[in-house]
Amino acid sequence: MTMYEFTDKYKDEASCKAVWKAYRDDQAVVCKKCKGHEHYWKSNKEQYKCKSSGFRTTSRSGTVMQGSKLSYLDWFRAIHLMTSMKKDRSAKEMQRQLGKKRYEPVWAMMHKIRAVMELREDEYQLSGAVEINEDLCIGDGREQRDSR
Ligand SMILES: [Zn+2]
Repeated sequence: MTMYEFTDKYKDEASCKAVWKAYRDDQAVVCKKCKGHEHYWKSNKEQYKCKSSGFRTTSRSGTVMQGSKLSYLDWFRAIHLMTSMKKDRSAKEMQRQLGKKRYEPVWAMMHKIRAVMELREDEYQLSGAVEINEDLCIGDGREQRDSR
């Protein structure tokens, strides 16, 4: 994915959210409390609410973005930058590219992305949304694999 294609598809936070939501829906959110698959979507809180137990799952739950205050746009941009460059970027450089005031959250984000990238080294391919989404979801996949 080129920088042009990327900025065209992920031009703002809303477009990133829409892609992410569609991906989560496609993967089917599973309720942690009752294992239910049927959910309501609470758009104001960005949470899925289980139709049977009422348990809420945030749209970032179970992914590397869980607990992060950085926007979807930040995450998507960081992954794009990290996967499209041959040389490793420093967190300082990433902080500058994303225009962030604080260094620590950027560093922590890159650390998580890098861990995922190392896991996938062999199968890694650079072609856009699918890979971005799969990378962000790796937490989910590994948990499921471990419990089987
Ligand atoms: Zn439930």
